[in-house]
Amino acid sequence: MANQVKVSNLGYPRIGKNREWKKTLESYWSGKMDQETFRSEMADIQLQHLQTQQAAGIELIPVNDFTFYDHVLDTAAMFGIVPPRFDYDGGEISLDLYFAMARGNAGATACEMTKWFNTNYHYIVPEIGRQTPRLTENKPLAAYRFAKERAGIEGKPVIVGLYTFLKLSKGFAASETAEVAGRFLPVYVQLLQELAAEGVAWVQIDEPAIVTGASEEEWKLLDTIYQTIASEVPGLNILLQTYFEAAEPLEALLSLPVQGLGLDFVHDGGTNLESIERLGWPADKWLGAGIIDGRNIWRSDLDTKLELVRKLAALTGADHLILQPSSSLLHVPVSVAGENKLKKTVKNALAFADEKLAELSLISAAFAGSEEAAAALQASREALEAFRALPERGRQDVAEQVRGLAQLPDHRSLPFAERVKLQQEKWQLPLLPTTTIGSFPQTVEVRQARLKWRKGVWNQERYDQFIREQIESAITLQEKLGLDVLVHGEFERTDMVEFFGEKLAGYLFTQGGWVQSYGSRCVKPPVIYADVAFIEPMTVKESVYAQSLTKLPVKGMLTGPVTILNWSFVRDDLSREEVANQIALALRHEVLALESAGVEMIQVDEPAIREGLPLKAEDREHYLNWAVKSFRIATNHVKDTTQVHTHMCYSEFNDMIDSISAMDADVISIETSRSHGELIVSFEEQEYDKGIGLGVYDIHSPRVPAVEEMTANIDRALRVLDPEQFWINPDCGLKTRGWQETEDALRNMVEAAAIARGKS
Ligand code: GLN
Ligand code: ZN
Repeated sequence: MANQVKVSNLGYPRIGKNREWKKTLESYWSGKMDQETFRSEMADIQLQHLQTQQAAGIELIPVNDFTFYDHVLDTAAMFGIVPPRFDYDGGEISLDLYFAMARGNAGATACEMTKWFNTNYHYIVPEIGRQTPRLTENKPLAAYRFAKERAGIEGKPVIVGLYTFLKLSKGFAASETAEVAGRFLPVYVQLLQELAAEGVAWVQIDEPAIVTGASEEEWKLLDTIYQTIASEVPGLNILLQTYFEAAEPLEALLSLPVQGLGLDFVHDGGTNLESIERLGWPADKWLGAGIIDGRNIWRSDLDTKLELVRKLAALTGADHLILQPSSSLLHVPVSVAGENKLKKTVKNALAFADEKLAELSLISAAFAGSEEAAAALQASREALEAFRALPERGRQDVAEQVRGLAQLPDHRSLPFAERVKLQQEKWQLPLLPTTTIGSFPQTVEVRQARLKWRKGVWNQERYDQFIREQIESAITLQEKLGLDVLVHGEFERTDMVEFFGEKLAGYLFTQGGWVQSYGSRCVKPPVIYADVAFIEPMTVKESVYAQSLTKLPVKGMLTGPVTILNWSFVRDDLSREEVANQIALALRHEVLALESAGVEMIQVDEPAIREGLPLKAEDREHYLNWAVKSFRIATNHVKDTTQVHTHMCYSEFNDMIDSISAMDADVISIETSRSHGELIVSFEEQEYDKGIGLGVYDIHSPRVPAVEEMTANIDRALRVLDPEQFWINPDCGLKTRGWQETEDALRNMVEAAAIARGKS
């Protein structure tokens, strides 16, 4: 049929419907499963994923998207890129070596792990250095053969493009990129030639790094890469795939000699369609149109999607159009089928990977004029309408409060320089006050108690009593150690977002909504499906109890609006800014509830503020503006003497110190284990004047740091920061640590502070 458009997928979740992938990995790591069984179980999972996609009507099924850990690590291993600290003789990469690079072993530390663009997926950073790449195995070819032999599928191998691979790697200077690319190009060519010789029709080359913006030189490099591939591997169809943002300038992409271009029509702000309308589409090129959101969990409005497909088909010709998700489905859970605890209207509004593939097939069928599809389209329309009409999604009171924001003051009543004097008078803290970031060890005992309570084995009263006892011993310990500002310990929390989600209106929790975060680690983000609103105090009980046990100040402890937003799946009918404002208003309520209950030092954590930063530099200011504003909405209404703290993780803050300052927290603590010196200098250069605690030791390891080590960190900070300004604390919460190491480390920290005070 001339009106038929092809349906493709860019990548399928690896973890399996019941996280069987994770379980297989972990049992191999723990030594409970031998290598042969491991490989055969992994092959079964891989096969099942292929068959699921085939059954969903996907014509271009991705292969080589499956991995034992991470696709970037796969790419590095395939090219023999192993850091010199590992014992590697240049042959095939063994499974043990592969996992050692990801997780470390007795002799060598793991490779660095970092965020995959603006997602919550983390990849292993390749360390390239001086090595000469070789093709140690052709993994895409093996995956192609596997699909063909085991499922009769003509797969579409997916590989990380050379440009993106180099952009994500380290071990060479940016100015050396072209030279490094020259070393890799022959092995890419070899890999692709082997695919062509096998009879592979399409290869998807992922180049998402293009959307972050390429310089003139980088475009030159892209041109060299794809010219070389075109001339050395003439028989292969290449679909150059971008995602997560608009591909700009489209002219430059269109001039690359590839047969197809994959574009994201969901996260591009409309730019991709505009560019095609402006430039026209070359008659001989295929367009891979990412029309279904590969990042969220919601059913699509298929009428709008169908309209978009019609527009695109008119521009490219239906015979050169491929429908696909906007990105790999790696970022969404597998299937909604098992979600039996949700209201029907809500469940029907969800679409995970399998449902998204079904949507794509449906749109293709509807485009071709199928009557069956028209009926399915109607059912989808009704499901969406019912969901949209839920009263909790359109609350008058919440809308009014958000509108009322314009009338609320957007800053504290006194500027920092003036309120700090009142605060000093009130709190009478010593120079270089010591404190911690909030959580104390979440021991097996704590987690078991929570489980007993959730299962009903313990009643509320029994559980509350248990939590009170934990708080009491944490307070006693902190007093004994001589800390100046205490915390209650967060024993009642599983997690810093779920805890609040469970207590706020507007949230739901799935049973199986897991996504891979890194390696075998999966997360199950809570879901904001309706208007977020305050119901009743969330943290007051524990904080007030903790404060009642001591004369020293105890910090109230909340998660901030931007972090709650960034670590949830968020409804897609409101802007993220609007949802952040709803959360901020609910938290404002909590902050004021704490204050009126006598808790007058309040920490509002924003560790994830950086994670929401847009990929394109020009969009960052807008994001930071509303992110900062939402923090201020939550915190700016307190009394002058109430001290607002915040905490952030991860070290790359150098470029956002203005925004951090604009949050106007009285004290900020920042994780700095990785770039201590640099960060202090940036704060100094930007003339940051508020309280600041640059973590004096790294909590990510059980090692107890010596007093001298922390004294050295403190001295370094005091060379550039005013001692009146500086706080002494570990660099993050202590929930993953054991009690003994926590006690020992904090004792040393307090001693280091005393030494520093003596010198100041
Ligand atoms: N208050 C939190 C804790 O101490 C902060 C956690 C975080 O920064 N990720 O656990
Ligand atoms: Zn932290």
